[in-house]
Formats: sequence, C-alpha cells, structure tokens
Amino acid sequence: MKTEIAFQRCVAPACAATFDVGEILNACPKCGALLDVDYDWDRAGLPSSLKEFEKKWATRRNPLHFSGVWRFKELLNYAPDETVLTIGEGQTLLRAEPVVANYVAGGQIYLQYEGLNPSGSFKDNGMTAGYTHARMVGASKMACASTGNTSSSLAAYANAATDGTKRCEAVVFVGSGRIAMGKLAQGLDFGAKTIQIQGSFDDAMRRVKEISKALGIYLLNSVNPFRLEGQKTIMLRILEGLSWEVPDWIVCPGGNLGNSSAFGKIFHELKKTGLIQRLPRLAVVNAAGANTLHRLYNEQGLRWNGGAYDQKKITDFYTQMDAEKREAHTIASAIEINRPVNLVKSLRALEWLNGVVCDVTDQEIVDAKAIVGRTGIGCEPASAASVAGLKKLIANGTIGKSERVACVITGHQLKGSETAVTYHSKSGAELGEAFKDYGIRSNVYANQPIQVANDLEEIVKALK
Ligand SMILES: *Cc1c(COP(=O)(O)O)cnc(C)c1O
Ligand SMILES: [Zn+2]
Repeated sequence: MKTEIAFQRCVAPACAATFDVGEILNACPKCGALLDVDYDWDRAGLPSSLKEFEKKWATRRNPLHFSGVWRFKELLNYAPDETVLTIGEGQTLLRAEPVVANYVAGGQIYLQYEGLNPSGSFKDNGMTAGYTHARMVGASKMACASTGNTSSSLAAYANAATDGTKRCEAVVFVGSGRIAMGKLAQGLDFGAKTIQIQGSFDDAMRRVKEISKALGIYLLNSVNPFRLEGQKTIMLRILEGLSWEVPDWIVCPGGNLGNSSAFGKIFHELKKTGLIQRLPRLAVVNAAGANTLHRLYNEQGLRWNGGAYDQKKITDFYTQMDAEKREAHTIASAIEINRPVNLVKSLRALEWLNGVVCDVTDQEIVDAKAIVGRTGIGCEPASAASVAGLKKLIANGTIGKSERVACVITGHQLKGSETAVTYHSKSGAELGEAFKDYGIRSNVYANQPIQVANDLEEIVKALK
C-alpha cells in the first residue's frame, strides 16, 4: 500500500520495485537499473487543464509560483513546499525564429532559450529539483561530475542552500582541460570545491560515484531521478508558449541524455493523465564525435522494446570502444560523452515519442551556432547541435517543412566565448589551424571584425 503521493520506481518493467522518496538511491538496489520518480496521479492535485497553471502568474510573489519549475509543482509533487529550494529558475523564453527557420528550410521553428536560467543553462531546472530532494533527506554535502554546466549550477544552488546555521558544501569533479572557461569561472566564483581529474568526463563520473558512496555525499548528476523531474518543466513552458498546443517535434542535443529522458517522461505523463490529447515526436542530436546513442540506435537498431532492450548490444559497444581506445571528441564539450548515463531512459523516451536520432559534425555545429547568434541571444556549441540536427532532419525529409518544431537551446552563448571569437575573426589557413582538432575549415556565417587605423578618414571608409 502506497501512502505517499510520490515514490521511486525501478525503470526495468521486469523488476519495477518501488522505494520511498525519502531514500537516497542512484540505482535500483534490486537490479541496478535506473530509477524514476512516479506518482499516484489521482492524489497529485492535478488541475483539470494545463491552462489552469497560468493562474499562478497572479501570485508570483510566492517563490514557488515565480519559479518556472515549481509553478508546475502538481506534476512533480514529491516535496513539501517548505523544503523547495528555488533561485528563480525557469524564467525562460520560447521564441519563433524566422532566421533559423530560413536556415533549416523549415516553417514554424521555435527556440526554447534555456540559457536564460540563473546560471546560464537548463541544468538549473534539474538542480532546483535535486537540491529540494537533498534537503528533504537532510543532506548538506553535494557533488557532481560535470562537463561544466552541472558544476556551475550545483555551485550556485549551494550558496542558496546555505543558511545561518548550516553551510552547504559543493564539490565538483571536472575532466582535465576540456571545460569551457566561463563554466569553470562560475564554479570557482560561486565557491565550489573544484577537483580537476586527469581524465575525461566519464572518468570523473566514475570517481564521483565512488566518492559519494564512500563519504556519504549526495550525488547530483543526472542519474539522480529527482533532477529529471525538474527538467520536465522545460516542456511545460514550451506548451505554455504555444498556448498549450502540442508541437509536432521537440529537438534537443544529446549528452548524458537526461533531457531527452525527462521530455519523454512528461509527455507520457500528460497523455496518461489526459492533460494532452496527442504526443509530439522527439529528435535527439549527438555530436558526431560523441555519438554513442546515434550508433546504437541507428546502426545497431537498439530499442527500448517495452523494457526488454538488448543489454548485450550496449555492453559489446562499450567493450569495443575501450578496446579501440575511442574517446569522445567534439567542440561541443557539454555533450562530449562516451557513456551516456541515461541511455536506457532515453531509449524509452524515443519509444514513447516515436523518436529519431541523428548526429552532426563540429562544422555543422559551429555554423548553426553562428545562425542562432543572429537571433540576438546566442548559444554555446552543444546547444547549436539541435539546430544543426534539425537542418539535417528537414533536408532528409524526416521532419516536414511545414511542421511545428521547438528546439531546445540548452546553454548561454557566453559560457565559452572562445569558439565564437575564433569562428568570427579567423579565416583561411588560420581558421583551419585554430580548429584543427575539430575538422572545422570554413566559417561562411562569420561576422569578421574590421581592422582599421586610428584615423577618421580610414574609419569612415571602413563603414561605407
Ligand atoms: C548538459 C548539457 C547538455 C546535455 O544534456 P543531457 O541532458 O545530458 O543530454 C547539452 N547542452 C548543454 C549546454 C548542457 O549543459
Ligand atoms: Zn530494479
């Protein structure tokens, strides 16, 4: 008998063991699979229609109603109000972007700008949810492994979680060298203990799991099922931006695959509870240099298959990856991941939303990034993968030219401005040299700075 509205449940249908939300688990103790947060929907307090959520705008002095995550609390109802930790995340924007539509040769193209979050990436949606659970269970030491944005977000919330009596400590593990400067700067400025491991993100991930177990530190990576509950709300804000109409497609970049997993889950839940009548389709875009999902999904035909997915395909793939010493390598460092921790949940999302997967080159990513920049907001390379993927999927006929598409722009442009400055200011052999690790040779969308002498006539000439 369930007495709580919310509980944790193993995603493997053959196991489906349930656990109290008060337990700290990173995987099912019975079978090792990932966990979901699930709800007794009859008791979750759902409104009769999604439009009802708009009423909370009228009472936005209440921090729970101001937050773009917690004003949908009835759809992630696992915490008492007083444990919720919010810093005003989720004040983000859905915008129709004709410039991008033109670039991808599509029709109704919308960008969902998650770079507008307090720490500059969508990760804040998940971090508020993860911290809230951490507070429920009394944790005050948090850790994560990160390609950058998770650490920025973790560090930002640690300060908010610190009150006069109890200091909340944040420890972040990052791989060596590959983190964008803006992200490292945030973690350091916000006061996180920053451990730079000599290795990749995947190495850092393995270590942080060991450390958090050994030292009893609360783990805030996206294996944490509560984080994904917060990330579900990105989709609710897209629906809200479209007056609660479901778009034809959601397109997002795929790294650890937390977003795609969360997006599949919320649409499945909304349909199940009758709050929407139809489902969008999902497109997940890998970088070609970090394309584990693409290869497993498109080349090996790996599917969720109602939960009976072929684990051997995954194991063999990783065995071969290790044997060949293949390391993820892409200019989109936020998605430079060999072993996506939410792979299996993402497969489930792809099944629920009749999804597709593709990969794009770094050249395609930086070109798409320059186009997103022209909209006046801009994004980091990983985010541009969604636009680059959309262009490819429209070109090959997977997505129709007149379909309505919402692309998730995951992180802010200024997280790593090095890429943009190089793209716009270098040319020819110099450009090839600067980007040689990534096979980027051209910059057709560059906006070159103009060098001019400190001389009025010369300046006037340059402006003609
Ligand atoms: C973390 C991150 C991603 C990858 O998201 P997943 O949910 O891990 O697939 C993409 N873009 C940016 C900017 C990120 O910070
Ligand atoms: Zn299990």
